[in-house]
Amino acid sequence: MNLILFGPPAAGKGTQAKKLVNERNFIQLSTGDMLRAARSSGSELGKRVAGIMDSGGLVSDEIVIALIEEQLDNNPDAVGFIFDGFPRTVPQAKALDDLLEAKGQKVDIVIRLSVDDDVLIERVVTRFEQEGRADDNPESFKKRLNAYNEQTAPLLPIYAEQGKLREVDGMQAIGTVSAEINKILDKV
Ligand code: AMP
Repeated sequence: MNLILFGPPAAGKGTQAKKLVNERNFIQLSTGDMLRAARSSGSELGKRVAGIMDSGGLVSDEIVIALIEEQLDNNPDAVGFIFDGFPRTVPQAKALDDLLEAKGQKVDIVIRLSVDDDVLIERVVTRFEQEGRADDNPESFKKRLNAYNEQTAPLLPIYAEQGKLREVDGMQAIGTVSAEINKILDKV
């Protein structure tokens, strides 16, 4: 089963993805984590994307699609993938459909974690204090939220039209959100 965890930055996608990895053996594919790993390894790719990431912009579709393709190829026996922070643009969503179709698979379900902007901002302030992520500063975060609203949110009606979109209130306790996600997945 292939699941997209959808939502703005700091909606709780990474937290819920990690729970699903533990509970269901899915593989989490987070393009944000992959890009951060590229940066800490000091690779050319990491150097290329550092400025864009820190300012809160989106890196090119070409780069993130190649990262996802590599992971799909490396995990042929996966029981399922959780796409976390990908796709973020219409071309990325199309590429994902094509990559999965080539393997006889598809996006099965898209779960949107809904969180109000003021709660997101509170979370990011806390995360910045705890983790020190450069792009969690208020200015970059505003840009990330804009990128989500302008480039990523337009995917919602597309997945809704395909009958794949479900919504969970991401402002509930972590355990409650997780229980609701599992209930949805049990029905797929
Ligand atoms: P995230 O951890 O998902 O919030 O991603 C952190 C940053 O990595 C984003 O603000 C973007 O700069 C970059 N990034 C991660 N995933 C993508 C993606 N699918 N498309 C474009 N940029 C991405």
